[in-house]
Amino acid sequence: MITLTSKEKNLKNFINGEWIEVSSKEKVYNPANGEVLAEIPNSDAAAIDMAAESARIAQKEWAGVPAPQRAELLYKVGIKMKEQKERLSQLLTLENGKVIEEARGEVQEGIDMAFYMAGEGRRLFGQTTPSELKDKFAMSQRCPVGVVGIITPWNFPIAIATWKSFPAIVSGNAVIWKPSSETPFMAKALAKIFEEAGLPKGVINVVYGSGATIGQAMINHEAIRVISFTGSNETGRQVATECGRQLKKVSLEMGGKNAVIVMEDADIDLAVEGILWSAFGTSGQRCTACSRVIVHKDVRKELENRLLKAMKDLTIGDGLNPNIKVGPIINQAGLDKILKYIEIGKEEGANLVTGGKQLTVENYENGFYFEPTLFSDVTIDMRIAQEEIFGPVVSLIEVNDFDEAIAANNKVKYGLSSSIFTQDVNRVFKAQRDLDTGIVYVNAGTTGAEIHLPFGGTKGTGNGHRDSGVQALDVFTEWKAVYVDYSGKLQRAQIDTDA
Ligand code: NDP
Repeated sequence: MITLTSKEKNLKNFINGEWIEVSSKEKVYNPANGEVLAEIPNSDAAAIDMAAESARIAQKEWAGVPAPQRAELLYKVGIKMKEQKERLSQLLTLENGKVIEEARGEVQEGIDMAFYMAGEGRRLFGQTTPSELKDKFAMSQRCPVGVVGIITPWNFPIAIATWKSFPAIVSGNAVIWKPSSETPFMAKALAKIFEEAGLPKGVINVVYGSGATIGQAMINHEAIRVISFTGSNETGRQVATECGRQLKKVSLEMGGKNAVIVMEDADIDLAVEGILWSAFGTSGQRCTACSRVIVHKDVRKELENRLLKAMKDLTIGDGLNPNIKVGPIINQAGLDKILKYIEIGKEEGANLVTGGKQLTVENYENGFYFEPTLFSDVTIDMRIAQEEIFGPVVSLIEVNDFDEAIAANNKVKYGLSSSIFTQDVNRVFKAQRDLDTGIVYVNAGTTGAEIHLPFGGTKGTGNGHRDSGVQALDVFTEWKAVYVDYSGKLQRAQIDTDA
């Protein structure tokens, strides 16, 4: 068990390079034991006015710094994250509950993103292209948007912040970040690292507070030109509606209902491993978590038996204990939502094979634990097969053939991640073409994205933007087309072309 230092517990807004006290506070809890960890500032909208003003001024200067120099700073951020990796990982487990091995993986994702985006400082490629007229030059270039607002969830409190803030910063924007109220320590730690790395005052600002007050104030502030949001569909829809009303650019990454498909020729042991990792890692609270297993009828029984056996070996408890495989759920509301879906599944006629109950862990009686749960005899239209549960709950859906498996995967409103286990190369290529998700895995579970590829989903998961990969730059840059006429006379496009 790690203990928080009094400095770490002292949470303040970070605006214009200053740590600013806020008198109104809310308690934040350790999901592993229900104890209060610290008090988080409950800022009012005036904090956003202050942050926006500082960001507006800072961004003008920052945009003038050559991109390779901006990138060097990100490189320093990456080095510092690397040096502090173990402490960051422990703090992450403390506030979020995910097991320490996964917390280390998440911090590593942030480090990878720092080095990757630092490389972008020497690229930020635009295009040069021929002009239709003589003695005329044409090109396109990326320009920063200005001040950007990022709103992040609790389930990946540092990785998602790096997916958004690093591309924003390297391309010359200033950032205002509202982290989830459940996970304030990662926000403080990352802001501190930016400060230590020497980022100019006002280029990054962290404002704590509720989504209803601070998130809304960001959306409504005229100086904030882009909102990059990751979170639930309910909130995302509201964010998008309000941004739409103001014609504000908005990038959304939202929920998922991800499936692993297991065909009759699959390596079943490998499929079980993939399902375990994808379904019960982060206690099923990943946007890419596998919550449906679509299995060919010929191997349904075998897969179910082996999965059940493997689930019995999952150890549940405090994620800081390295022997634990499944940590707690984030809070009581998260548990209540899972319990609601267990009842829905039973009422719908699904067969509850194992799990389905809240769990009390010895010495952690006030923690928020839930048994790894398996439903079988699930049909694709049941609510447990359609809606995001966000917990360690898997539904087995039996199908007759490959085409039915693909159709079952696609028959949900979400489109984040999917996976297929098969040895047949023809099926592999058909599946990667036909699975309607932003991410497809073959012979691996539904999780495990790498930061240099685009991350995001189709249909109800997003609105066409991507976090991470070079594509992330599109959220935080505007394209400018530039024409340079060196003919010394007026040449008119589309008119003087035949002259
Ligand atoms: P929420 O939608 O509850 O919250 C996300 C963020 O939005 C939080 O910072 C929250 O603040 C803020 N917020 C809440 N209400 C508003 C509002 N009215 N206006 C503006 N901001 C607001 O999501 P969770 O934090 O519970 O995260 C889990 C969800 O995120 C799941 O659905 C998961 O699938 C999704 N997710 C998607 C990913 C993807 O890339 N597709 C990746 C990771 C998660 P506060 O904390 O103060 O309420």
